[in-house]
Amino acid sequence: MQNEKQTAYGFGTRAVHMGNAVDKETGAIKRPITMANSYELPYDPTDMNWSSAAGNLYTRNGGANQKYLQEKLASLEGGEDCIVLASGVAALSGLFFALLKQGDHVIFSSVTYIAVYRLLNELFNTKFGVETTIVDTSDPENVRRAMRPNTRLVHIETPGNPTLSISDIAEIAEIAHAGGALLSVDNTFASPYNQRPVELGADFTIESLTKYINGHGDAMGGAIIGRTEHLDLIRAQSQINLGATISPFNAWLIMRGAVTLPLRMRQHNDNALAVARWLEAQDGVSFVAYPGLESHKGHETAKKQMAPGFGGVLSFGLKADHDTHNRFVSQLKVITSAVSLGHDASLIVFLGEKDERQYLYPEEFSNGFFRFSVGIEDMEDLIADLQQALEAVGLS
Ligand SMILES: *Cc1c(COP(=O)(O)O)cnc(C)c1O
Repeated sequence: MQNEKQTAYGFGTRAVHMGNAVDKETGAIKRPITMANSYELPYDPTDMNWSSAAGNLYTRNGGANQKYLQEKLASLEGGEDCIVLASGVAALSGLFFALLKQGDHVIFSSVTYIAVYRLLNELFNTKFGVETTIVDTSDPENVRRAMRPNTRLVHIETPGNPTLSISDIAEIAEIAHAGGALLSVDNTFASPYNQRPVELGADFTIESLTKYINGHGDAMGGAIIGRTEHLDLIRAQSQINLGATISPFNAWLIMRGAVTLPLRMRQHNDNALAVARWLEAQDGVSFVAYPGLESHKGHETAKKQMAPGFGGVLSFGLKADHDTHNRFVSQLKVITSAVSLGHDASLIVFLGEKDERQYLYPEEFSNGFFRFSVGIEDMEDLIADLQQALEAVGLS
């Protein structure tokens, strides 16, 4: 299918076939894992560029399994090109490192993955002289007001981790481009099944492959999707010189996991919406944040840019004190207390009320809250598990 136009087939067909081919040596109908870290040199190698990402040379410069996965993800995200790296954070830092220089200005969402906050609010500004502004990007007007002549990049996350805030990708892309800036969107919570930022006008989509795209909680990876002109720069400057290359085995695992992305996302979408509605109806629950709920502030924007569903992550709180939140988690039997998200299994994490970024979150998050990644188990079992835990702590 490599030579077919990316759009000639549906999402599910491309999830299965893109990046795969018959192995020429053995005839195997699945491409093998190539663990070698070095490739045969030409007769006279002396005029080679040892920092080149073109061709097969050395696995830090790009390996076979990485390239197969890049083909699949560029297709699923509707992008021209893709770089796969060792983690979601490697993708984020690789993008920032290649794009930003001293004197540039960056605008980023008040709700982002914690490493983005550290990189832009603590490292790039103090170590490299990059100006950074945090804004609530759920209102695009805040982005417009924050734009400066030297704004190089706007970085948003939608839905945002951990409050599920929604930002309008198409509108923010217009504002960024009008000011001569680029837009990157962390799409990890939605996955390309539900939302494809580059198709909506963003210049870059970032994915933590560790989450939905691998989907089984057993490998780490990250991806940047965008145009080749930008991605060649990131390859040359970040992948090869920062060295956060994905291992061939992890690239292979993620390639395998991604095949079932559409099937899993359908179940995540359905389960999360049902659980969110159920939680919202419970007296002991103080709030539920899920973009699929009519009560969510960003619901209309989410409906416009997310389809067919709203993902598997939600946040909620209990009408109870700090320790009751911990007791509730300790009573759960199906749902596991662990960080990460987008696994087959349901995962919950109590984030308390002392996050250093609490001042950036809506009021209802100030009494402690859970981030809940709803898995693909049977919905009835998840709701029964939540019900019995609420009863056990006297909230039902
Ligand atoms: C987990 C996560 C990341 C970081 O990905 P890693 O693979 O853990 O490095 C980035 N963004 C979001 C939204 C995430 O949830």
